[in-house]
Amino acid sequence: MDFIRKVLFLNILTVCGQGKVLTGSFWHITDLHWDPTYSLGNGNSASVCGSSGNRPTPDAGQFGDYLCDSPWDLINSSVHAMRDILPDPDFIIWTGDDTPHVPNEDLGEEAVLRIIGNLTHIIKVLFPNTKVYSALGNHDYHPKSQLPPQQNNMYEQIQKLWEDWLDPASRDTFKRGGYYTEKLLNQTGLRVLVLNTNLYYDQNSVTENLKDPADQFKWADQVLSEATKNKEKVYIVGHIPPGFFEKKRHKPWFRPEFNKNYLELIQKYHDIIIGQFFGHHHTDSFRMFYDTSGVPISAMFLTPGVTPWKTTLPGVEDGANNPGIRVFEYDDKTLLVKDMVTYYLNLTHANIARARWEKEYRLTEAFRVPDASPASMHRVLERLAGETCYLQKYYEFNSVNYDLTVCDADCRIDHVCAIREVDFEDYEHCVVKEGGSSAAPALLTVALAAALGMWTSY
Ligand SMILES: [Zn+2]
Ligand SMILES: [Zn+2]
Repeated sequence: MDFIRKVLFLNILTVCGQGKVLTGSFWHITDLHWDPTYSLGNGNSASVCGSSGNRPTPDAGQFGDYLCDSPWDLINSSVHAMRDILPDPDFIIWTGDDTPHVPNEDLGEEAVLRIIGNLTHIIKVLFPNTKVYSALGNHDYHPKSQLPPQQNNMYEQIQKLWEDWLDPASRDTFKRGGYYTEKLLNQTGLRVLVLNTNLYYDQNSVTENLKDPADQFKWADQVLSEATKNKEKVYIVGHIPPGFFEKKRHKPWFRPEFNKNYLELIQKYHDIIIGQFFGHHHTDSFRMFYDTSGVPISAMFLTPGVTPWKTTLPGVEDGANNPGIRVFEYDDKTLLVKDMVTYYLNLTHANIARARWEKEYRLTEAFRVPDASPASMHRVLERLAGETCYLQKYYEFNSVNYDLTVCDADCRIDHVCAIREVDFEDYEHCVVKEGGSSAAPALLTVALAAALGMWTSY
């Protein structure tokens, strides 16, 4: 068949619907951070919620406050919005952090389990027939961020709460290390890996000095090697991402060796890893992975949080966000991520009038790319790095339309280098190359802050 006839033939097929690529969709939600102490009842704006610390909250309303974690009305509203917008997704990815940002003394094992239980319950009630791939966050343990590299009571209890969502084999690895793998929706050729990257968090003192906590890297390598043999396509799901926080220069989460190991894993198996889905930042961003010759090989999507809580991380100015939830559209045969649509609640408006969840943006429309493949996400990065209007658009999406100030030259460097370079050294080179300050003074600040005990876990 000559070329023109071939094109005509394909066009006819498409018009008739036969050549159409099948599209599925799934939800990704993260960082719900329910604060059960949230209450407007006592009329005291100094103590509306435990998670505000001592920050006064004069604007607190029914659906929350930018200084507080989520009240139940916000949790309820967000899960109902999911059901109203897309009631029958193929599956749900839920990447953890369920409890409020309060001191350990105000929680305890039982309180943490109760909170995880209540959030699990509402998702089950509103999506009774939907498979949920649920990952542990650093706040889903007591004491926070100290997730252990071996079997313990909390992993066992959480495994029970999520039992309906887990295959029998998943239950074993989950109890042992908080991670698991399954065929995606039980389909041959498709796989999901849910990781417990909290084991790599530099705030986790129980995994310090360990080479491979809970043998998770060894296990992931085996799973991915087997998946390669079986020609499977894989999604990776987790809470804390590798690389740097885009709102604070020189701020990584992983310990250096773990960051390297994670990168190597992606580089080794990028052929079969089609998407990576993480949370923890509460902001909307993404991370790029390249091979040694600079070809984009993978993209990691960071979905914004439901909690609007303004971070107390030193050096981050006005780090709150509007509550966000996200739908991914994907090719259900190849797992190619075709698009993503983020929905959000304007919290100020919700408290004044009513809770109206609206579409914030669709990736392909906002950044004029054909899909969300690594090549397209690389183009998104190039656009925002090179054109002020795209940078500003990305920046407003980053806080889910909360911070509408101008992203200046320093802000550009923070975001561009965090997105482009997951590797610690390459990130530092990027900052210097783009015209920012070198690491030395900032690392000193980091060391000083750590010494003064100023760390706030996210
Ligand atoms: Zn969080
Ligand atoms: Zn977190």
